[in-house]
Amino acid sequence: MKTFNHPCFNSAHAATHGRIHLPVAKKCNIQCGYCNRLYDCVNESRPGVTSAVLSPDQAVVYLKRIMPPDKSITVIGIAGPGDPFAEPEKTLETLSKVKEEFPTIELCVSTNGLTVAEYVDDLVNIGVNFVTITVNAIDPAIQAKIISWARFKSKMYRGLDAANILISQQLKAIKELKSKGVTVKINTIVLPGINDNHIEEVAKTVAALGADVHNCIPFLPVEDSTFESLERPDHDTMQKARWQAGQYMQVVKHCARCRSDAVGLLGQSNPDHIAEILKEITMGPMNPNESRPYVAITSKEGVLINEHLGKSERFYIFEKNDSDYNLVAIRDAPKLEAGENRWETLAKLLEDCQAIVTYQVGGPPQYYLEKAGIKVYTSEGMIEYALDAIYSGKDPQKAFPVRHCTGPMNGGGCG
Ligand code: SF4
Ligand code: SF4
Repeated sequence: MKTFNHPCFNSAHAATHGRIHLPVAKKCNIQCGYCNRLYDCVNESRPGVTSAVLSPDQAVVYLKRIMPPDKSITVIGIAGPGDPFAEPEKTLETLSKVKEEFPTIELCVSTNGLTVAEYVDDLVNIGVNFVTITVNAIDPAIQAKIISWARFKSKMYRGLDAANILISQQLKAIKELKSKGVTVKINTIVLPGINDNHIEEVAKTVAALGADVHNCIPFLPVEDSTFESLERPDHDTMQKARWQAGQYMQVVKHCARCRSDAVGLLGQSNPDHIAEILKEITMGPMNPNESRPYVAITSKEGVLINEHLGKSERFYIFEKNDSDYNLVAIRDAPKLEAGENRWETLAKLLEDCQAIVTYQVGGPPQYYLEKAGIKVYTSEGMIEYALDAIYSGKDPQKAFPVRHCTGPMNGGGCG
């Protein structure tokens, strides 16, 4: 087992070997009853929480800025805030770029396991030696109580169907990963009254497939999640779970339930400056090495953000000067054409823009624009407010102040 320098896989190194989580995986392809990723509190330490989400190029720039010179960081991992394989391109691109920049560092990913099996060869080729899969149940009836849905190969599954797919994909992934020599840790969230009497079966099944380490994590209630009122497991429940798991493989007990942007040694809070650096980089261009001075806006008249991207006939292009914004161009939208070409042409038209702010946007244009390194924001109200936000490193989504109007709405929506 290659556990010598991974603080999570080997408790002997937890106090001396640090890790950095890169929060590049925003979306998830399942919904667990204990998960709520909507909070962003720098003082909260649990999976799913991050101060910002990075693009792959931003992640490398971020690492270069925060990596301590003393070699105390031995592992770079991706652990959310969603699932790394809900958007596999971003995960694989990040891992490749990090390996190129830091060839001696160990790479690690933590996933729910729904789609990782497809990417085992990619992970091995990049040099990922450690994968964690969260397996909470191998009985579909139990798993169906834990997840409410799963999206697999563009189809939504619920109830037992979702549970069956998740379990079979997880077991397939463990087998594939072990056949390629990857060290596999299983995380199991111990949920009282749901899977606490099922831990031994989970451990026995995953150990038979070659899993190396089992990490039984006590459930933590999270506000506004399905299980927010469920009790935490008590000491005896956790002792029993770990003892049962320990009959089948090595057990680790020192998991610190880290944030998706955790930095440093397990159990330590992130240094204060980390959240600031993270936010600063996130609000810049998706590829910080490129020069993209402009921001594009969809607007009917050039004052308000009030046009849907797909309907927009023109794009207003702004740049920041010393104290204001210049309208540098009004670019005609590409001719209407079917399919993805339209969005690729649009991405080309806006290639010198770091962001676009639009009233609404569909999934395909957002995908193609972001793939081309252009951040897509939805907002409304004055263009100036949105530009203020973007150029000062803030999210423009709430650029227009909410007004509590009691009268009827009778305007045309054009200001
Ligand atoms: Fe949340 Fe992870 Fe479950 Fe997705 S797999 S819902 S990110 S806990
Ligand atoms: Fe390691 Fe647990 Fe933190 Fe993941 S959450 S990095 S397994 S200590």
